[in-house]
Amino acid sequence: MAKKTTTFCTMCGAPNSKENPVVNIYEGLYMCTECIAFIDGKRDEALNKIKEEVKTEETQTSRAIPKPKEINDFLNQYVIGQEEAKKYLSVSVYNHYKRVMQPSNDEVDIEKSNVILVGPTGTGKTLLAKTIARLLDVPFTIVDATVLTEAGYVGEDVESLLTRLLQACDYDVEKAQRGIVFIDEIDKIARKSDNPSITRDVSGEGVQQGLLKLLEGSVVLVPPQGGRKHPDQKMIPVDTKNILFICGGAFDGIERKIAARLNTQVVGYGHDAIKKKHQRENLMRYVMPQDLKSYGLIPEIIGRLPILTSLDPLDKSALRRILVEPKNAIIRQYKKMFELDGVKLEFTDDALDLIVEKAVEYKLGARGLRSIVETIMIDAMYDVPSQEIDAFKVDRDYVSNQLIKANFEKTALSD
Ligand code: ADP
Repeated sequence: MAKKTTTFCTMCGAPNSKENPVVNIYEGLYMCTECIAFIDGKRDEALNKIKEEVKTEETQTSRAIPKPKEINDFLNQYVIGQEEAKKYLSVSVYNHYKRVMQPSNDEVDIEKSNVILVGPTGTGKTLLAKTIARLLDVPFTIVDATVLTEAGYVGEDVESLLTRLLQACDYDVEKAQRGIVFIDEIDKIARKSDNPSITRDVSGEGVQQGLLKLLEGSVVLVPPQGGRKHPDQKMIPVDTKNILFICGGAFDGIERKIAARLNTQVVGYGHDAIKKKHQRENLMRYVMPQDLKSYGLIPEIIGRLPILTSLDPLDKSALRRILVEPKNAIIRQYKKMFELDGVKLEFTDDALDLIVEKAVEYKLGARGLRSIVETIMIDAMYDVPSQEIDAFKVDRDYVSNQLIKANFEKTALSD
């Protein structure tokens, strides 16, 4: 009879015994029951620790994601009015965060919802985008659709839109793939007519087709320096699946398409300014995807921009608020500049009213407010620092005189 050999635990060297049996774990690996229990305990400890770490990380991130209401509150500090656009943007940015935080093994894949903002020029589309950028900690860039052309034509390739995003995060591709791109003047790449053209439309449909690739999510090769692709240039592959695109455009004249759809006539077009303004105000709000199609965007692009919202034209009261209310309002900026010289600057209410009246009269919009205030303030900005005064008051007469002195009327009309 062969002699039974004793087995020993590979870990602690204990011999096999009734009290502490040694078992064969794996080829040539023996472990006693005590060591197995010890290792089990250690493994559970380690797993629990990992779980805890993941949990804290998750709660920290979910706490860090600003909620739609918080995003909206933040926008309110800088952008006057445009409540609907703010709401849509807040929700889509919040969802964007949630999507990029989603674990990759999750069964439900949250699809991105790109946004399109339609509204007259100078009503705050870019401002909304810029303000969102202040708040976010994802890479963000603003690009202009007008510089784009179809591959092979003079201008920039569509992929160069992503170059700016890469530059915004120091070429960290992972980060760029979770970023947000604001494409301004999207209406400028509309097809010139509603019918698909037989001839090539350099600035329109071809660019839209190129853009489609980016919007729907695919891996595109991005020229690291932008501009046109160059055969010797090493391209960077970027997956656009999780990049949120926000597009903005004035879509001048789209009211007529909306009116045609609503089967109404644009009353008083051309001669009754007030009616026209009302008509514009009301109609823009009814914008639907089919109006964008009539305007010349291809249906595939429209389908990739599911969130469509409009911005209102700015009326007198909105302009008045824009002068003073935003955190970086123009009047606040001037007050600050004077304060640095130890001078308290004051604008009377009727002075502010006149500034707004002039902006409306010369159709300068919100952008014009700054140039009007600059025209008014140039002399004071020049003289006051050398004067021994501690207060400076701008009233209606001062505004009026300064504008006459600067020949404002003539300049504004020739603009
Ligand atoms: P666009 O709609 O053409 O993109 P912008 O956002 O560039 O217009 O607006 C131009 C400027 O006018 C802004 O920088 C800002 O100073 C002012 N402005 C326009 N709309 C608003 C608004 N709703 N609230 C505050 N400021 C505004």
